[in-house]
Amino acid sequence: MDSGAAGAARRPDRMFRTLIVDFIFPLLLILLLSRVLRSILAGFRSGPTRAAPDRPPAVQAGGELKKDPVCGTYVSTSASVTRKVNGQVIYFCSEECRDKY
Ligand SMILES: [Zn+2]
Repeated sequence: MDSGAAGAARRPDRMFRTLIVDFIFPLLLILLLSRVLRSILAGFRSGPTRAAPDRPPAVQAGGELKKDPVCGTYVSTSASVTRKVNGQVIYFCSEECRDKY
């Protein structure tokens, strides 16, 4: 009989549902994605950085900067691994590079 009134009464409820679907679902998805991304980034950070966590390649620990002939990193003479080759001192960033030379 009076179906118009019933329809009008249901409309706000429908709008509320689409509001949830259109806004809260994407919001939850974004939150979930950012959480996943953060955990991936955190794992990525703790993965490859083992020995030197926040030390830039050009170390300012005093002394001259010398180029590591193995990996090409510039190391300061005071904070490097050295090796004498034919009377000449060669500077390396690590013992690993010195052994490779
Ligand atoms: Zn090196």
